[in-house]
Amino acid sequence: MMKKIIVVGSSNTDMVIKAEKLATPGETVIGGKFLMNAGGKGANQAVATARLGCPTVFVCKIGDDIFGRQAHQQFVQEGINTDFVVVDTENPSGVALINVDAKGENCITVAPGANAHLSIEDIENASSIFERDNILLIQLETPIQTVEYTIQKAYEYGLKVILNPAPAAQLSSSVFPFIHTITPNETEAELLTGVKVTDFESAQKAGQVFAALGVQNIIITLGAKGAYLKSADFEGIIEAPKVEAIDTTAAGDCFSGALAVAIYEEKILSEAVKFACKAASIAVTRMGAQASMPSRVEM
Ligand code: ADP
Repeated sequence: MMKKIIVVGSSNTDMVIKAEKLATPGETVIGGKFLMNAGGKGANQAVATARLGCPTVFVCKIGDDIFGRQAHQQFVQEGINTDFVVVDTENPSGVALINVDAKGENCITVAPGANAHLSIEDIENASSIFERDNILLIQLETPIQTVEYTIQKAYEYGLKVILNPAPAAQLSSSVFPFIHTITPNETEAELLTGVKVTDFESAQKAGQVFAALGVQNIIITLGAKGAYLKSADFEGIIEAPKVEAIDTTAAGDCFSGALAVAIYEEKILSEAVKFACKAASIAVTRMGAQASMPSRVEM
């Protein structure tokens, strides 16, 4: 069997209205532009790994509705294996309502819908893909018990586990030793380690906390500055290529997806982080989440 990247996570439809101002409670703002984008951290990361040329299986839960069907169709178009995309007949697909004003300030409400019902049973039903040599890429936009169960199961089956701990949430300390590589941004690293990350010294301190918890390799993404890496044979900051960023939505998703691809290709971690920084630097020069993910040819 050809090895694969298994992405377990969320799928959302982002509905964005860009208007002059944000509405205050009770107010109606008329005017502006409407955009609908495919999103959800899991789906974004699955699109990233597939576009970069890796066989990708996406495990998620969508509703039996127009948004779910559209997302499913998009996954198929990207060449993603959807055998374990579960249709929930009781809950709607995940939706995010995003208002953006003229200054770029935003206000977001997410109804996770079916994502909040991705269960241990759904993961059990996907047992056949938990094969040694595969890679698991997972985030925190689905129930934490399911995430922790999946991480442990993947580790026991010999898969390399990459955790992008986003959005920031607490995790049971027992899962850290099962993690091959963790990829928080500065905020997520602070929540999990208690260290405010702003530069190399603070990243190093947070890195030590993760290492003490049992994580093998630690990457903290630092926005335009690039990413801090601590692995067995390297510790330092890998700089991001200088680009003119126009939309940093899903920069972290692109980074984690590309990192998984590089690990799949057995690159050493410093090279893998360079590859991930390059992919994310392309993504930030374009609008959108899934729409901004680079292809292998562009790399
Ligand atoms: P998140 O999107 O999760 O908050 P970051 O802002 O740290 O994460 O961005 C993730 C990665 O995307 C960074 O490590 C970097 O490689 C890349 N990136 C983000 N912003 C820029 C930028 N302005 N220029 C170049 N690369 C960027």
